[in-house]
Amino acid sequence: MIQLHKVSVQYGSFTALHSTTLAFVPGQFTVLLGASGAGKSTLLRSLNLLARPSAGHITVDGVGELDHAGRVHEHRKRTGMIFQQHQLIARQSVLANVLLGRIGYHPAWRTMFPLPYGERRIALECLERVGLLHKALERVDCLSGGQQQRVGIARALAQQPRLMLADEPVASLDPASSRQVLAQLKRFCHEDGITIVVSLHQVDLACEYADRIIGLSHGHVVFDSTPDALTPVQ
Ligand code: ADP
Ligand code: ADP
Repeated sequence: MIQLHKVSVQYGSFTALHSTTLAFVPGQFTVLLGASGAGKSTLLRSLNLLARPSAGHITVDGVGELDHAGRVHEHRKRTGMIFQQHQLIARQSVLANVLLGRIGYHPAWRTMFPLPYGERRIALECLERVGLLHKALERVDCLSGGQQQRVGIARALAQQPRLMLADEPVASLDPASSRQVLAQLKRFCHEDGITIVVSLHQVDLACEYADRIIGLSHGHVVFDSTPDALTPVQ
């Protein structure tokens, strides 16, 4: 379990997140909902200390795990990140991109094939889980947007994460691909007991997939409940 205790994040004199206390538990698919500028990215980034709290602290499994640099590194190794624009390496194969989640990218790879068997096997299993095993040896930039985002999910899964953070992972996708991506994230959250936090700005998608919705507005939590408590405005 990862917990924020009265965490505030400031950019200069501007407070993007105000004294926020929240706990995230394994196996719960949490969606952060809010308008642009509400503080969704800041909250996600504070969960792996890409945004440093100016006040408050973060604990992992009750331990002040993120108090030391070494622990922050360990925490990040177990945190899979998924981005709106995939952050995949063009011109490389799908498989090489997934292996990035395991052993990091190095140009020397081009002369390092075959890669370690165990690493390849884990990467291929992750590709199978997102339904893209048949694309493993294709260039990643030849895939559709939805498929590329699923490669991003496979890359995060290959890290065998305990926490997965996805910042607007479906913002650039069509509705069908968006649903496929969210359904897969939710499935892996439940199957693997990963703590997953996803930011969205579409209320309908949040209600359809989230176990828990946290509403943010101007850096404050204004809502924290199950989707059925969020009555759609007619
Ligand atoms: P969201 O993800 O909900 O769109 P953000 O967390 O990105 O919101 O931003 C929250 C607020 O913090 C916004 O007003 C934004 O302009 C501001 N902000 C975000 N990042 C920075 C930064 N690096 N420097 C200054 N202000 C920032
Ligand atoms: P698309 O992304 O357009 O669905 P793909 O080539 O990735 O195309 O998918 C091929 C087939 O695999 C499709 O019928 C798709 O629905 C299915 N598929 C997608 N994801 C999974 C999955 N996680 N497990 C099994 N099959 C999947």
